[in-house]
Amino acid sequence: MQKKVGPKGPRQRDGRSLGPRPILQSLLRGATLRCPACGVGGMFRRYLKVVDDCPHCGEALHHQRADDAPPYFTIVVVGHVVVGLVLAVEMAFRPPLWLHAAMWLPLTVILALIVLPPIKGTLVALQWALLMHGFDPEAKEEIGDRFAPPSS
Ligand SMILES: [Zn+2]
Repeated sequence: MQKKVGPKGPRQRDGRSLGPRPILQSLLRGATLRCPACGVGGMFRRYLKVVDDCPHCGEALHHQRADDAPPYFTIVVVGHVVVGLVLAVEMAFRPPLWLHAAMWLPLTVILALIVLPPIKGTLVALQWALLMHGFDPEAKEEIGDRFAPPSS
């Protein structure tokens, strides 16, 4: 049975849940493109665009700073799969180079597009579970606020 977190309930402060943040559960929820806090609301509003707040529980997800990590891990994963397949097919069948290009280039692009959202979801969930960036409910301010020009 899943505990309900929000929305804007007493278990949240400024859209940040105050409850426990189990890492494995959060990672699984992120990998399935769901909010790491409730596991119900969707994490993305478009292909790779993270929602500002969970549509189900109201958890603030705009604090995420995945940056270049999702493409990096996507290259690592897809590269290992495709290079392994290329070597296996080359050793077994020795196909011509044009056939290699015709098979592996589309497969690489398709695999990357499939794997990228779950990897980004997992990384955002990891940041959430580890209270990184602005995900800490005890944080006074976000990192970006410190660099804002002084108001006068
Ligand atoms: Zn949620």
